[in-house]
Amino acid sequence: MAKKKNDKKEAESAPTVIKGETCPICHNKTLTLSESDMDVPFFGKTYIFSMDCSSCGYHKADVEAEEKKPACKYTLEINSEKDMHIRVVKSSNATVKIPHVGSIEPGESSNGYVTNVEGILQRFKKMTDVLREEAEDKVEQKKAKNMIKKLTRVMWGQDKAKLIIDDPSGNSAIISEKAKKT
Ligand SMILES: [Zn+2]
Repeated sequence: MAKKKNDKKEAESAPTVIKGETCPICHNKTLTLSESDMDVPFFGKTYIFSMDCSSCGYHKADVEAEEKKPACKYTLEINSEKDMHIRVVKSSNATVKIPHVGSIEPGESSNGYVTNVEGILQRFKKMTDVLREEAEDKVEQKKAKNMIKKLTRVMWGQDKAKLIIDDPSGNSAIISEKAKKT
């Protein structure tokens, strides 16, 4: 892929896009590959990849730091609305946990992205909402409903939660002085 020089310090480069690749799922030549990079403060240059198929809707995204980093584990105490803006880099190898709420597991179907704490909480909310819809007994439904309520309160700065990101590939981070790195 062509490398281009940017004089301006932009947060994210214009993506390099390749169309008409073969989709690994439906095998049509309708897969679009996209690659861009982003300068994430206190983390460094990060490549952002994505694959999207217009035939079957297959989507895969991931992030990778330019500089190889050691395995890492970050823990953040979320206790204010301001914490919503804390940047989070999450690769497909990361396990993301909010104790007593749930976790996002790594693997083939896991995506990588650059987001913030609010974006992570939104994903947990959506995930819990799916669980609530699929739950067959009332107890499970109620549990999920309460978790969604809790997540909303955390987003508004009215409740606390812990966010843990564990990544053996080192391609993830919670970028804040408040986050403990081990
Ligand atoms: Zn496809």
